[in-house]
Amino acid sequence: MTARVPAKVNVQLAVGGRRPDGFHGLANVFLAVGLHDEVTASPASPADGGQGPQLTVSGPDARHVPLDGSNLAARAARLLAERHGREPHVRLHIAKDIPVAGGMAGGSADAAGALLACDALWETRTSPDELRALGAELGSDVPFALVGGAALGQGRGELLTPLETGGTFHWVFAVADGGLSTPAVYRECDRLREAAGTGADADSVPEPRPSQDLLDALRTGDAAALAAAMANDLQAAAVSLRPSLTDTLKTGTAAGALAALVSGSGPTCAFLARDSGSASVIAAALEDSGHCRAARVTTAPASGATLVE
Ligand code: ATP
Repeated sequence: MTARVPAKVNVQLAVGGRRPDGFHGLANVFLAVGLHDEVTASPASPADGGQGPQLTVSGPDARHVPLDGSNLAARAARLLAERHGREPHVRLHIAKDIPVAGGMAGGSADAAGALLACDALWETRTSPDELRALGAELGSDVPFALVGGAALGQGRGELLTPLETGGTFHWVFAVADGGLSTPAVYRECDRLREAAGTGADADSVPEPRPSQDLLDALRTGDAAALAAAMANDLQAAAVSLRPSLTDTLKTGTAAGALAALVSGSGPTCAFLARDSGSASVIAAALEDSGHCRAARVTTAPASGATLVE
């Protein structure tokens, strides 16, 4: 059983102050984009070795993906098995195309794919609502990878409201060499807020709110309006940790992008293009510049995790 799962870009990522539990409140507008991982679940028995899922990974970033029990796909398979009172005997193969530690929620996508593929393989018939609830236990971005399309995430990002989208948006993603650690980027965001004298705690940072202009732009499919409303509160922190991202962002803008922003916690940079022709021009400029490892052209919104033949 193979599940195909999309990456995401946060067209708005508003980060509230650090809460006493260490998390940050978010207003997070997710858009699923057409870069995908595929997670294949096949039968395994204890005789094949190991108690839990047996994992293999292919793709250009495969060496950066953990193969032990910390892998989010393996954790997802274990959680689903536990919920249904069965052993997690399964082989999982991840064909990885989403950049690792790239701010595109690739690990969460694999968790969503493993939930869907194992549920089909084991015939455990978990309802979509329960799959989303299991996903939220694994990570705040997992429910969105199951649902896809566009959605508003609140709380830590796990409270999802689906959003209407009115058309196809054209994107280019500049994949960087090496990743950025999401917790390190949040820490840097707090540090920059403290250094600016505004404070980093929940009582000194305004409550994050979704932008109505941005939601309207998604609903009407207006790329120029979406470009004007996009914002990522983690961008300054990602750029502070990786100053070369400024060059990547400038290159895409100079090549005609309607907007350029860091995707999530970075270091992948996202460029919204007017149309597919402009997206190709932006991608060529990024590749020629040497400021990224690869430039990928795609569209959004993409469907959530789906079983494929
Ligand atoms: P996010 O935007 O959700 O914070 P990300 O896209 O920046 O995440 P991921 O690719 O999800 O980053 O990986 C973050 C870390 O998670 C990796 O460095 C890796 O150690 C760990 N990890 C666990 N499982 C996986 C997986 N299946 N694929 C990739 N990374 C995984």
